[in-house]
Amino acid sequence: MELDALELLRGGLPESAAPRRRIVVVGAGMAGLTTAMLLKDAGHDVVVLEGQNRLGGRILTHRGFAGDMYGEFGAMRFPEQHPLVQWLIRDRFGLETRPFPMYDEDTFVFLQGKGVRRRDFDASAFTFDLSAREAERTPHDLLRQTVQPLVDVVEGEEPGKAWQRLLADYDKYTLLGYLKERGLGDGALAMLGPLFNLESRYHFSLVEWFSHYYEDVFGHLVYIVDGADALPRAFEPQLMDDIRLGAQVHAVEQDDRHVRVHFRTGRRSQVVTADECVITVPFASLRHMEIEGLDPDKWYAIRNTYYGRAHKLFMQFSERWWESAYGITHGLTVTDLAIRNIVYPPAGQDTRFRKGVMIASYCWEQDSMPYTPLAAEESIAQALEDLVKIHPEARDTFEFGVYKDWALDWFACGIGPLFRPFEMSEAFYDDVIRPVNRVWFANDACDRRHRRWVEGALKAAVKNAYAIHSGVRDHMPWRD
Ligand SMILES: Cc1cc2nc3c(=O)[nH]c(=O)nc-3n(C[C@H](O)[C@H](O)[C@H](O)COP(=O)(O)OP(=O)(O)OC[C@H]3O[C@@H](n4cnc5c(N)ncnc54)[C@H](O)[C@@H]3O)c2cc1C
Repeated sequence: MELDALELLRGGLPESAAPRRRIVVVGAGMAGLTTAMLLKDAGHDVVVLEGQNRLGGRILTHRGFAGDMYGEFGAMRFPEQHPLVQWLIRDRFGLETRPFPMYDEDTFVFLQGKGVRRRDFDASAFTFDLSAREAERTPHDLLRQTVQPLVDVVEGEEPGKAWQRLLADYDKYTLLGYLKERGLGDGALAMLGPLFNLESRYHFSLVEWFSHYYEDVFGHLVYIVDGADALPRAFEPQLMDDIRLGAQVHAVEQDDRHVRVHFRTGRRSQVVTADECVITVPFASLRHMEIEGLDPDKWYAIRNTYYGRAHKLFMQFSERWWESAYGITHGLTVTDLAIRNIVYPPAGQDTRFRKGVMIASYCWEQDSMPYTPLAAEESIAQALEDLVKIHPEARDTFEFGVYKDWALDWFACGIGPLFRPFEMSEAFYDDVIRPVNRVWFANDACDRRHRRWVEGALKAAVKNAYAIHSGVRDHMPWRD
């Protein structure tokens, strides 16, 4: 059985004969807030314990720039293909959105010490060891043709069956392993990696990467004009009095009738008793908690859910020279320099002034590692040295930078979960989402198609809220 998560979010949980329950939700990110909202709306007694002094978790808008400028350290753009988050933003909360295009032919490809505009990219001007077959295709066509067998599955079968076949036939592959098996040489991999931001995904699940690629999630994005944190803040009127901020949960006990959730506020330890507990914290951070009653298979799934690294480094400049000198208003420059990605965000500018903000470095997985040991000032200085190689205007107009390394965030323990081969199918994934007695799991790892997206956090929230409310405990109607 599949649930219509959008319908449940929109219409609320259905009438149920199950009794009204007291429920503790751990974490006030998008999963926790949505779980709490649905259960409260359905008449349950809800308390949310949040370790930080703010809502939103991995939605984190930094407002320390001039005027009304801001920078999104966490989630910043929401695909049109994600119906739950779009419904929440636009319909439920009425937040204004604008397009956040990621493709702009005016941006640069800067590789091997040479920079060209994207529209002028020609592999023969660089040193890539390409076969004749690889060299005669555009990079875009080469990638597309290499993954054509997966495209054929999606386009040849009815959607549910196609998804099952993708999992059955391709879950064993890393992206890199598959591209190599399909005959791409090392030169082609070295070219496609930076061009399409594949290097940080090469060693992870082919199917997860492919589903984002095929859906073109980065092709149709919007941002929230008031900043992404307007989304968690929109829950405040309904939930703030039920949320305990600064409440860091460290242990959950359970028996057949109750859960007891232990949390610290400053030096004080407190406990709250309830019928059910929904844990929405990232699995990596959950490893600091003691949770009674979890079986070895559940712990195996928790331990082996991979959480990646990432950082964002924003800089404020006295002029938006990327607009005036280059005609760039959005999009992404890619490079093999340590900064790896420059993002020119349409979000967070204050057009009353000439000043502007940009993401001078956005890196994922091992690309983020070289920055982690640096002090923040060193990271910023280092990134500026890279940036001026591509944009010399950056040197004289630089005002200051701010940096967030998600690997160092105690409450997030990384940017979020990514699938590796063999993890999307069979017992492993069932163990990820499985509740254990009175403890439920509803973070952005607990959704197969939209892991590491706000959409995934919302879907996990809806499915768990539905199951608790309806008294469904021992089978999983919420697999996908
Ligand atoms: C850099 C970055 C960029 C991203 N970009 C996008 C994007 O553009 N679009 C998109 O859709 N998604 C994006 N994401 C992913 C998105 O932010 C997450 O998928 C989503 O916010 C996860 O929500 P969650 O509720 O599952 O987890 P979280 O947001 O992590 O919420 C968990 C909450 O639990 C709290 N917590 C942790 N430990 C404890 C404890 N012991 N006791 C009490 N509370 C605790 C945390 O403080 C937090 O508030 C991005 C994430 C990052 C980091």
